[in-house]
Amino acid sequence: MTLKGKRAIVTGSNSGIGLGVAESLAAAGADVVLNSFTDRAEDHELASDLGARHGVTARYIAADMSKGAECRALVEKAGGCDILVNNAGIQFVSPIEEFPVEKWDAILAIDLSSAFHATAAALPGMKERGWGRIVNIASAHGLTASPFKSAYVAAKHGVVGLTKTVALEVAGQGITCNAICPGYVLTPLVEAQIPEQMKVHRMDRETVIREVMLQRQPSRQFATVEQIGGTAVFLCSPAADQITGTTISVDGGWTAL
Ligand code: NAD
Repeated sequence: MTLKGKRAIVTGSNSGIGLGVAESLAAAGADVVLNSFTDRAEDHELASDLGARHGVTARYIAADMSKGAECRALVEKAGGCDILVNNAGIQFVSPIEEFPVEKWDAILAIDLSSAFHATAAALPGMKERGWGRIVNIASAHGLTASPFKSAYVAAKHGVVGLTKTVALEVAGQGITCNAICPGYVLTPLVEAQIPEQMKVHRMDRETVIREVMLQRQPSRQFATVEQIGGTAVFLCSPAADQITGTTISVDGGWTAL
């Protein structure tokens, strides 16, 4: 229970990687705030169930991370945090000429600007307490590109740049900022891409998974939400005190190619 007494906010955490990271942080003893833009009874139940299973305080706070003011209000409503995991993200796949402008704007807002706003709101409290961990969930697409993902690749490269900048601004103050760069993890976000990829590449589901998605991942295996969660817990541990401003790939070798 190395994170006992620490308060964590994980944005976009009622599903997929965010929920997996929240589970791992709670298992390590942290109190957690789950978030998404919905405000359903089941979102709040998800948090109370997670808290009960790990013996920590867990709350759900709704905030639409496409809106800067709501990102900042999330941190305020949580009463600040010691650990901020900027995870909320969406994806859309299309050739750039047909890429809908509203999708471009939404991806930049949710996948990149939300991290800017939440970090700005969380840092004053972290500085006061002399301890903080910011973990940005970027992507292999923060380090490399793929066709048809212009907004996502641009946003995730932006997250890696933001990570380095924040790390430099707070270096030596007990606060670190790093990015985890997952390869493919089979979550609802990835499931949703399969039909679009099938259309763009004119392939069936199994062929898209094998030839398009895992073709880039030399292990030919999806990474798991537990592995991303474990990496986040490591970045919050004393062993990672001097790890800052960098990326950790959890991608089965994708970025080694
Ligand atoms: P997911 O769709 O399962 O989860 C995305 C989360 O973000 C959900 O909880 C969703 O409710 C939330 N969200 C979406 N729009 C929001 C908004 N406007 N306000 C608040 N919350 C919002 O997807 P995932 O695969 O778990 O993705 C999580 C993060 O991991 C994303 O940033 C994604 O880019 C990144 N990532 C995923 C993969 C992968 O293969 N799954 C790989 C690399 C990076």
